Amino acid sequence: MGSVSKELRKLADDMLQTMYEAPGIGLAAPQVGVLKRMFVMDCIKEENATPEPNILINPEVTWVSEDMNTYEEGCLSIPDQYADVERPAEARIRWMDIDGKVQEEQFDGLWATCVQHEIDHLDGKLFIDYLKPLKRQMITRKMVKLKREMARE
Ligand SMILES: [Zn+2]
Repeated sequence: MGSVSKELRKLADDMLQTMYEAPGIGLAAPQVGVLKRMFVMDCIKEENATPEPNILINPEVTWVSEDMNTYEEGCLSIPDQYADVERPAEARIRWMDIDGKVQEEQFDGLWATCVQHEIDHLDGKLFIDYLKPLKRQMITRKMVKLKREMARE
């Protein structure tokens, strides 16, 4: 069992704030330039619903279902681009929480998609890596163009 440093708590708080402001349902540390295996998520999207912020440190996939599910995914690192991605419908994850306790939980629905998408970020993988080459090229080209426009401003 590890202990969580003050810096990591601060980072998690900042990431949650960034995610809610975006708004997004998940944000991984590498997306904000920090090479730590950590991400935050909250898949509660309904207005007026109680937020369920989750902080997952060193997450590991311990099981995935054979059943697959398709969601239209987006990503804060790829603004305004969305595409259908097929992933296991359920996933069991083990991680360390912000109090340094090991947790294990099975996720389904949007939560399952979100945890798998965020763990991919920790491995340097983006949702567009799952797309057919043509669709991926289209999005990549748009991103290059967008980056060029932003650099000019
Ligand atoms: Zn993402």
